[in-house]
Amino acid sequence: MAFDYDDTNIFARILRGEIPCDKVAESDHALAFRDIRPQAPVHVLVIPKGRYVSFDDFAANASDAEIVDFMRLCARVCASEGVGLDDGNQGFRAIANTGPHGVQEVPHYHLHILGGRVMGPMLP
Ligand code: IMP
Repeated sequence: MAFDYDDTNIFARILRGEIPCDKVAESDHALAFRDIRPQAPVHVLVIPKGRYVSFDDFAANASDAEIVDFMRLCARVCASEGVGLDDGNQGFRAIANTGPHGVQEVPHYHLHILGGRVMGPMLP
């Protein structure tokens, strides 16, 4: 995939504070907030603060510190009281839609974390 980053995408605007978000947690290199159109009782997006287009861009080009920080923020989201995923080890689903075949809408890498109900089967 090409990794040309578009600074006008909606998550870049959230990171610059130009539009609000329902913030759940933040770290040095990442931000977690609730999806504006939730697909489950809990639907949180975790994004890096760096300019990465997609999962594969982030995995290939982010620094080790950014990747570890991102994953630790995901862990905090999943374990935090108040987010809704810490109840009795019920689990969740984490998805990174990537590129046209992955039907990625926003071209800034984000991990969807969905929970609070039993998920359906994965789409083919
Ligand atoms: P994608 O298809 O994986 O790119 O998903 C993008 C997600 O961003 C969708 O689930 C949208 O509902 C969500 N989204 C779009 N704009 C906003 C916003 O301003 N705040 C929070 N979530 C948003």
